[in-house]
Amino acid sequence: GDDSKNEKDEFASYDIGLQDTEHGVVTRFPPEPSGYLHIGHAKAAMLNDFFAHKKYKGTLLLRFDDTNPSKEKQEFQDAIVEDLALMGIKADKTSHTSDYFQELYDYCVQMLNEGTAYADDTPQEVLKKERMDGIASARRDASIEENLANFEKMKAGTEEGKKWFIRAKMSVDDPNKALRDPVIYRCNPQAHHRTGDTWKIYPTYDFCCPIVDAMEGVTHALRTTEYKDRDAQYQWFLKTLRLRHVYNWDFARMNFIRTLLSKRKLTKLVDAGVVWGWDDPRMPTVRGIRRRGCTIPALQEFILKQGPSKNIVNLDWTTFWATNKKYIDPIAARYTAVEQADAVSCTVVGARAAPYSEDKELHVKYKELGSKNVWYSQHIIIDQADAQSFAQDEEITLMNWGNAIVRSISHSVNPLNLLTGHKVVTALELELHLQGDFRKTEKKVTWLSKDQELIPVELVDFDYLITKDKLEEDDVLEDVLNPKTEFRTSAWADCNVAGLKEDDILQFDRKGYFRVDKAFKHGQPAVMFQIPTGRSK
Ligand code: ATP
Ligand code: MG
Ligand code: MG
Repeated sequence: GDDSKNEKDEFASYDIGLQDTEHGVVTRFPPEPSGYLHIGHAKAAMLNDFFAHKKYKGTLLLRFDDTNPSKEKQEFQDAIVEDLALMGIKADKTSHTSDYFQELYDYCVQMLNEGTAYADDTPQEVLKKERMDGIASARRDASIEENLANFEKMKAGTEEGKKWFIRAKMSVDDPNKALRDPVIYRCNPQAHHRTGDTWKIYPTYDFCCPIVDAMEGVTHALRTTEYKDRDAQYQWFLKTLRLRHVYNWDFARMNFIRTLLSKRKLTKLVDAGVVWGWDDPRMPTVRGIRRRGCTIPALQEFILKQGPSKNIVNLDWTTFWATNKKYIDPIAARYTAVEQADAVSCTVVGARAAPYSEDKELHVKYKELGSKNVWYSQHIIIDQADAQSFAQDEEITLMNWGNAIVRSISHSVNPLNLLTGHKVVTALELELHLQGDFRKTEKKVTWLSKDQELIPVELVDFDYLITKDKLEEDDVLEDVLNPKTEFRTSAWADCNVAGLKEDDILQFDRKGYFRVDKAFKHGQPAVMFQIPTGRSK
């Protein structure tokens, strides 16, 4: 609620250095539909939305940058629209770069005619070296007729055409390598997910971006700072093609420790079955982090707090989840769970013979969350770890009930642990001591009456997919993959948990926050994902 509002207001007062805003602000978010949105894309989308809709009364365009038919799919495009809606981002207009294939083609022909572009067939490796060394391509001074003829072959997608590509004639040896005759058109006979086989040539991102921005009336093109070197070529296209002016504005790319933020690499994880899918709770996708229990206001606050800073830092998920905790705490109802493995049965001496229940608040601070039924009886279970910590005649507190004294402890040596002599507590006798002061006990223990329908739950915790804090370009994925990232614990939960629905966020006393991924149904355990809180465990 209020916190996020303050953050946004604070951000609104930064000097973000967006020029010439008096004549209107039109921004655009241009995802390539080649994967699901990740948290980095969320930053780009939220910043564009923020400038267009909150800081200025402007327009936000959503443009699918669909110029590479080999990578793009309708499925991804639909998912992007859904995820933006989920983040509360509504574009005023939606378009596709492919809507402009004809115009882009015409601009390319214009450049060939005006001698500001040429067709080239230099092999990839040679081209790379020539570009590094500032050497002109052998085709750089081909005639207009030759260039047009080769572009036609490309357009027809012939075997010969496939060898050619078009380059803008910017510079051979400019110190800014982005200006060394960048490629603007390639031949690719693969069918496009929207235009089918109409085109066998596709414009590059470098070429489309300035042209389509200018054509759609974009006033400020926001890009991550690694594009800074390409601002000059962007402006060169606008000038050479005599297009409307567009400002470039850079912001820092978002990076997180032990996290891949590249659709290409995330696709690999999905395809290799390392994760369940794009919405796996270990994925840094908008869907993944939501499934892990992140709330949208928390995501907004976290991203807008990064604000217009241009410093690229390797962010830590700790701060991210700490922000989220502020938002989930007031909505997380409290329940109780006890681990199934070696759960200890206790007899409670002094409890009423007949089991009974009382209405208790779901959250002592947030009464609007309602109430639950807490059962009391002579037969309860507690966690093995708690039971093992008890000493004979120790006074402990049974949370939300009262104090009790440990009167007898039964042990057995776990056969699996014969060597270590590790003992398992098999039963306890506790004597209620309700006049005792809970402030004076050291141990506050969660417990569950056996005289209620105990609900089976599977608690799932996750670890990072990647073992290395900062990934380098040449890291081999297989070498940095964490072999075990999923940890399951079976537990019993109080009867009230039966009513929880998918997506509910709750807290189990002393166990932390969870999001219900699968509700309890037909005796099948509820599946709950642990929500990180930023504290190390
Ligand atoms: P990826 O490598 O993950 O595919 P991309 O930049 O190629 O990233 P696009 O779909 O082209 O993916 O990105 C859409 C927008 O999101 C672009 O404006 C891009 O600058 C921005 N973006 C992508 N990754 C990040 C990131 N890590 N931090 C901030 N913005 C990002
Ligand atoms: Mg891109
Ligand atoms: Mg990419």
